[in-house]
Amino acid sequence: MQTRNLIDGRWTVADDGSTLPVLDPADDSLIAEVPSCGRDEAVRAVAAAARAFALFQAMTAVERVSLLKAISSLMAERKNALAELLTREQGKPLVESLGEVDYARSYLDGAAFELERQSEETMLDRALTGKTVLVRPTPLGVAALITPWNFPYAMLTKKIGPAFAMGCPVVVKPSEETPLTALAFAELCVEAGVPPGVLNVVTGEPIGIGSAFFESPDVRIVSFTGSTATGRKLVEASSRQLPRLALELGGHAPFIVLEDADLESAVSGLMISKFRNGGQTCVSPNRIMVHRSLHDGFVARLSERMSALVPGRGLDPQTTLGPMINDGGIRKVQDHVADAVARGARLVLGGELIEVPGLARRFHAPTILLDATPDMACFQEETFGPVCPIMAFDDVEDAITIANGLPYGLASYVWSSRTAQALHVAERLHTGIVGINDPAPVTSWTPFGGRKQSGWGIEGGAAALDEYAPPKTYSMVGLDPEAV
Ligand code: NAD
Repeated sequence: MQTRNLIDGRWTVADDGSTLPVLDPADDSLIAEVPSCGRDEAVRAVAAAARAFALFQAMTAVERVSLLKAISSLMAERKNALAELLTREQGKPLVESLGEVDYARSYLDGAAFELERQSEETMLDRALTGKTVLVRPTPLGVAALITPWNFPYAMLTKKIGPAFAMGCPVVVKPSEETPLTALAFAELCVEAGVPPGVLNVVTGEPIGIGSAFFESPDVRIVSFTGSTATGRKLVEASSRQLPRLALELGGHAPFIVLEDADLESAVSGLMISKFRNGGQTCVSPNRIMVHRSLHDGFVARLSERMSALVPGRGLDPQTTLGPMINDGGIRKVQDHVADAVARGARLVLGGELIEVPGLARRFHAPTILLDATPDMACFQEETFGPVCPIMAFDDVEDAITIANGLPYGLASYVWSSRTAQALHVAERLHTGIVGINDPAPVTSWTPFGGRKQSGWGIEGGAAALDEYAPPKTYSMVGLDPEAV
């Protein structure tokens, strides 16, 4: 297992030798220790990336496509080991970790595909302006990437795929909860032939490492995935050097089940989207709104399905519900349930911690809260746990108003058997993506980005490459366009 940091092609420890423990959230056992780095190590990593920029730009697109494909195939080869490591440090069931490795690979493959597809675009508009205009995507330079713990491989490749495709060297700061997956990924990149300095990984103290990113004029883009609260701090920190910011922040997805929805499909869809990673997902449904005519049947079926979830250690094959990432995560779930009950919600399933023999007290029972209202904390902030607050509605206009009533706008879901009706509702939801009878609408092939306080910028699809290499325009007069 790789536990050291990668700076300028060399595996290193923290300058003062200090380390951070990485614990298995299921039982608090120590998995490994990683360097506890800060500003100084991050400054060196940025300098290494800045030196590597010219070299990376000199690589042809064909070479960069091959590099992305080589990393992706090594990930496929090592899939089982990568997934086991993810489950150990993050807790999710192994089957989900295996899925995440494939999902993460799809962002490398997708970026390689987009790069192959993109060609330099020449626009000859002599008839209009008498000029020849050439527009070319041009890499910004060093990209600093800050990633969260809930999908540590996928949130990394979402950024590294397009950055590498467009020739931007990167410095990665993974979450303190899940640094080992980033280091395992880095090891595999080195093996695939990523040149020294093109990928640097620095683990440790967020504020010190972050300050190195925001002080350096060489960092031209900071791409962050994490909470809205941290995103806001990064916006403030960016005011001096003004790097481009790509922010994938928190969400609070509404899940609206219309009168004409297929009940079985809606319940199955909710199980998939809500219980992926035990609810610790940015696109997790947090406000479930069901037409009154379907409400009781929906709750009965959902309750049956949720009762069948098996909590346990992620490496156990029968586990379908892993632990919350840490004690703070468990406390937030408990607080949200207590607040909802105090405000009049009916607790009809769960509501308490589950004791799993031999494991930490970090498992929360799948929980259903009925009569949820917009004033409850669970209807306002991400719960990030296995809690389903449900509200019955009579008029879909009320559901849409509640759905749009928060400052978040990441994902939403609509269940209906009529396309026109579903689209009509979906068009009015202020979110970057809508799953219509689709519990997993985010893919590497399609653009994804939040509205309002859920973020800035796009990941996935062709637009993701533009974040790292926006178009540069060459306007020419008096030259022969045929010679371009
Ligand atoms: P977080 O904001 O606490 O941390 C995210 C990352 O930022 C970590 O690496 C952390 O160390 C780092 N960080 C924290 N403070 C920093 C600072 N001052 N300077 C530099 N770096 C700093 O988020 P988290 O708890 O790791 O992740 C969960 C959150 O991420 C949830 O809100 C979730 O919705 C969101 N998320 C969003 C998406 C998306 O695509 N929009 C995807 C996954 C997760």
